Amino acid sequence: MMKMSTFEKLGIQTSKLGFGCMRLPMKDGEIDREQALGMVEYAYRHGVNYFDTAWPYLNGTSEPFMGEALSRYPRDSFYLATKMPVWLVETPEDFERIFEEQLQRLQTDYIDFYLLHSLNKTRFEKLVEQGLYELCKKKQAEGKIRYIGFSYHDAAEHFAALVDKYPWDFVQIQYNYIDPHLLEADRLYQALADRGIPCVVMEPVRGGFLASLPKDISGPFQECDPARSTSSWALRWVAGHDNVKVTLSGMSNMEQLKDNVATFSGDISLTDIEQKTVDRVVKRILDVHTIPCTGCEYCMPCPFGVNIPEVFSIYNNLKLFRNPEISKNAYFGRLKAEARADQCKQCGKCMKACPQHIQIPDMLAMAHAELDAACGTK
Ligand code: SF4
Ligand code: SF4
Repeated sequence: MMKMSTFEKLGIQTSKLGFGCMRLPMKDGEIDREQALGMVEYAYRHGVNYFDTAWPYLNGTSEPFMGEALSRYPRDSFYLATKMPVWLVETPEDFERIFEEQLQRLQTDYIDFYLLHSLNKTRFEKLVEQGLYELCKKKQAEGKIRYIGFSYHDAAEHFAALVDKYPWDFVQIQYNYIDPHLLEADRLYQALADRGIPCVVMEPVRGGFLASLPKDISGPFQECDPARSTSSWALRWVAGHDNVKVTLSGMSNMEQLKDNVATFSGDISLTDIEQKTVDRVVKRILDVHTIPCTGCEYCMPCPFGVNIPEVFSIYNNLKLFRNPEISKNAYFGRLKAEARADQCKQCGKCMKACPQHIQIPDMLAMAHAELDAACGTK
């Protein structure tokens, strides 16, 4: 049976597994409706009652799709989370227009968990001036929002100021077993735990990275428990934290969904031996020096056509799997020349959008040089 979380502060219970709607299955550039509807049905029937979408997900098609998919079920039988794209808001009218359109897209009168999306220090300072929190409170008073929170994408040092500015009902952070070593992610988690603010976690498998580790890195997992998938280790590491109420997984096919449902229907917390096993895998990952890209695509489109996440994915696969032939086919074959890293003009636009604070132009230059050296066509 699906494990449940109690939000003591809010007096509600949600499933510990949340359905992230950013990576729904795609076919010919659009949501694969048949498969995605089947996944929502399977999740709902197996006790998942938290669905998380956002205005920009899947080029704006995630919200309308989820509105349709969830309209089959009683509205009070699930929790719906979506987010205000604060970067599109200049006036209160913008906020009003986008919010009302979200209600229409989602075929609902209210949003359960409403987030100010992807906050960083700069965006936060602007939204304080604009009074966006107060606009959310007004919607809450009208019964159109139940709980107000934000999702965070910035350095740990700025986090406490955001958390302490308003009485948030919950906060969403990125957390997984590798991030404490890259992004001081433990500080974010602890700041919420210390204040008793419920924590929702995104990117528990780092955009799929922690689900597809090569065997020579994930070997300790298989030695410890051959039946368990690599991603279930990552999900359990996150969900075992007391103040993590919901672990969002952006599932792309039925196989992943079934595996996740099975994971969240069994023992969640890691034993001491399992925690030591994770530590061994972390060490192996850190030894490889991959680029910490989650594939979120916030940096896209590049005005010069570079497919930034694809380049980083191909580079990381080269480092992890060390198969130059596959990397050559991916980089010098499938990826068009116009989308390769050497087309970067170093304009810097992408860097402002990257939640992982990757020095994208420098990393692209390095990736191209190493791919060219390892598997170039010349
Ligand atoms: S810095 Fe390079 S990759 Fe980034 S937006 Fe500019 S040209 Fe594109
Ligand atoms: S480079 Fe940054 S913004 Fe772009 S896909 Fe990767 S993590 Fe996301």
